Amino acid sequence: MAISSLIKQPSCADDSDPLSITVDEARQQILRSITPLQTREKLALRSALGRILAEDIISPIDVPAHTNSAMDGYALNGQDLPRKDVLELTVIGSALAGQPYKGDCQSGQCVRIMTGAPMPAGSDTVIMQEQVEVVAEQRIRLGSGHRTGQNVRQAGEDIPKGAAVLASGRQLAPADLGVLASLGFGEVTVRRRPRVAFFSTGDELRSIGETLGDGEIYDSNRYSLYGMLKRIDVEILDLGVVRDDPESLRLTLLNAAETADVIITSGGVSVGEADHIKSVLDDIGNTHFWKIAMKPGRPLTFGKVGQAHFFGLPGNPVAVMVTFYQFVQPAIHYLASGEPANPLTLRARSVTRLQKKPGRYEFLRGHYTQDDRGELIVEKAGLQGSGILSSMSRANCFILLPEDNAGVEQDGQVIIQPFAGLI
Ligand code: AMP
Ligand code: MG
Repeated sequence: MAISSLIKQPSCADDSDPLSITVDEARQQILRSITPLQTREKLALRSALGRILAEDIISPIDVPAHTNSAMDGYALNGQDLPRKDVLELTVIGSALAGQPYKGDCQSGQCVRIMTGAPMPAGSDTVIMQEQVEVVAEQRIRLGSGHRTGQNVRQAGEDIPKGAAVLASGRQLAPADLGVLASLGFGEVTVRRRPRVAFFSTGDELRSIGETLGDGEIYDSNRYSLYGMLKRIDVEILDLGVVRDDPESLRLTLLNAAETADVIITSGGVSVGEADHIKSVLDDIGNTHFWKIAMKPGRPLTFGKVGQAHFFGLPGNPVAVMVTFYQFVQPAIHYLASGEPANPLTLRARSVTRLQKKPGRYEFLRGHYTQDDRGELIVEKAGLQGSGILSSMSRANCFILLPEDNAGVEQDGQVIIQPFAGLI
């Protein structure tokens, strides 16, 4: 057969392919098909770290609960403050955090006060201890230059009673646990975590500890997938390696769909002889087979097997990570919280030229730092082939080159997506 009579199929090597969909279209379609989980549970405060809040938190109290001193010093009434001269006051008692002074502070008097102690009745101002002269056991002197109300923290100045503090859908961070504790909450209502099952497919895959035969490789995808899943708040079900055999794939998928909210596989989604995922899914699921205009990670299967959302990621180790971060992680976040994911992006200067033709979205592995003037700079983190996982490990960000980008000159501006903002 003459070469010219072959119909040229679009391949991964092309810069654009009219049959493919864009990264954004794929993301939108995925989000549209997901209904966020509604089941809730009550957890002790510490166990709620990283979980998605399922209630609006309204403050039941003022924080701080009472007006108190921000310094160690002497509490007095601001009307007594001397304009020019030196004033002498009688120290009538002391107030400590947790041990308020019970009496009144009248004109000519002051109360020795420690940081956090409630302000005694009749006082509204604190003079730092370093700014007074102790003249006798219960007498102090102070000069001018002070201001009424200084060094005092007002009740409710952090959070007033009745204020909306944290909104439902928020992922609880360490400071949130502290804020909830400061309001006296011992437990909170959160949404249940998604259950995510995953497995690798491929006859060439061996598990760690086994000896590699001819043409065999270690299954690395299951480890990078485990790592990425571990960093987000999900229940993980690792289903191991499944051979390129339609019946095993079918059984494993049906089994996973009984318990998991999300099923992720790697490999077997291209059009090679051993790529059975498509035929099996046509049989048991309701899925789309997408060619996405992106690099790396072009083929992606998405849909449902039973009640479970299914993501068939490509086999190449870097494509697995890129498609996970760009599609699966935002989908899981939306499923878990009902909120769109909003990964951090920053502007940086590319220290080298980046070649690219318009047509597809490229996710380069980059390494960013600050130069000596404090500007963010970024460079490629090594070879960019979709099987080269070591450069993914060296990278600390993606360099985002959207479809219409036609390359970047040396010192040109690019948008980066730090890995630290993805986890
Ligand atoms: P596939 O999509 O199954 O054709 O796989 C594409 C490439 O990724 C092949 O070179 C596979 O050997 C490789 N690959 C597939 N699965 C894995 C895995 N779990 N770990 C490492 N490499 C893999
Ligand atoms: Mg394969």
